[in-house]
Amino acid sequence: MKQNSPAYDLECLDLAKNFGAVRAVKGVSFNIPSGSFFSILGPSGCGKTTLMRMIAGFEEPSDGDIRIKGKSVLGVPPNRRNVKMVFQHLALFPMMNVYENIAYGLRCAGVSKTHIRRKVHDVLERIALPDVAEREIHQLSGGQKQRIAIARCMVLDPDVLLLDEPLGALDLKLREAMKIELKLLQHQFNTTFIYITHDQSEALVMSDHVAIMNQGLFEQIGTPQELYNRPKTAFVAGFVGDSNRWSGTVKASDGTGGRVETDQGLPMSFSAGAGQTIEEGARVEIFVRPEYIRTVRAAEAGKLAADGDNRMDGVIDSLLFNGANSRLLVRAGSGELVEADVTLTGENDLKSGDEVCLVWSPRQAMCFARQEIA
Ligand code: ATP
Repeated sequence: MKQNSPAYDLECLDLAKNFGAVRAVKGVSFNIPSGSFFSILGPSGCGKTTLMRMIAGFEEPSDGDIRIKGKSVLGVPPNRRNVKMVFQHLALFPMMNVYENIAYGLRCAGVSKTHIRRKVHDVLERIALPDVAEREIHQLSGGQKQRIAIARCMVLDPDVLLLDEPLGALDLKLREAMKIELKLLQHQFNTTFIYITHDQSEALVMSDHVAIMNQGLFEQIGTPQELYNRPKTAFVAGFVGDSNRWSGTVKASDGTGGRVETDQGLPMSFSAGAGQTIEEGARVEIFVRPEYIRTVRAAEAGKLAADGDNRMDGVIDSLLFNGANSRLLVRAGSGELVEADVTLTGENDLKSGDEVCLVWSPRQAMCFARQEIA
């Protein structure tokens, strides 16, 4: 008879962990579909590692349930869960060569020598390092060590692979290359990867879905595009991607849009963030991404801004050069610095000291009821 395999590799239900008075994880629920790349992204101390350690079995939850392939694993020790973990410092055995490192788990499980040989060579092929079996660990590059650490886990056919900031110890250039590499490896193995990080660029580039964690809770789970374009809370809007941010008070609102007076005394039209209803009189935060702000010469503002657009006069303080797509820091009349992206053409480019007008549509001004931001 054909068996239905569970739709989710991992389900967490109201999962919580207290360390005495510290509520490290306050009750999170989520499902991870089979074969996906899922990241947990949040600032230091928000509870990511604690959550990961509960999934791996190193911490017992204070409340809630964890199901792997549909079965609760509460009380099941780490070595009896079909979950493997790659740590930041990789924890490869320096006294063993690559082959022995990868074979170690299979040996402990009593697998025959012939089968081990086949599996080790197969996994080395899959990580595109077929010729390094006899190398010592110190003879590998940083990127190769990462791949061997993953191979050592994947050779055991885990249901879920947990990765605890494994790129944290690498230099910037290698980290960039490894982001792409990790995503390709996850596709290659078609196994669920759960990746924890405080680095949004890692999470956004690699993941099918990302959970944004803050103070022991998930603020939002979504695709990278959803989190970036339709954040549901001020925390998510501020944490994912770059934004200019203003606090203010709502002066007029029809529930989904209206007008705010910022604390600097400037009027600003907005549209409410996803799922938000903004009441008149509410204290709010407004977020505008630098790529949605157009910078036009002060003299041309009248011609180039559409009716209803937000406008702010200022003087260019500096240009953060980054090739054709660079960023301007504009000192607004109210004194604050506003970031705006600009495409440089080489002709008549804007420069420090130029008087400009910043223009953006109310649709690009995401407004949220004020919340504490960690
Ligand atoms: P980082 O990115 O810095 O590693 P994190 O998001 O992984 O942070 P956790 O390590 O899970 O955060 O810690 C969450 C909270 O729980 C923190 O306040 C931390 O001090 C606390 N905590 C973690 N482990 C323990 C423990 N064993 N005993 C007491 N408190 C703990």
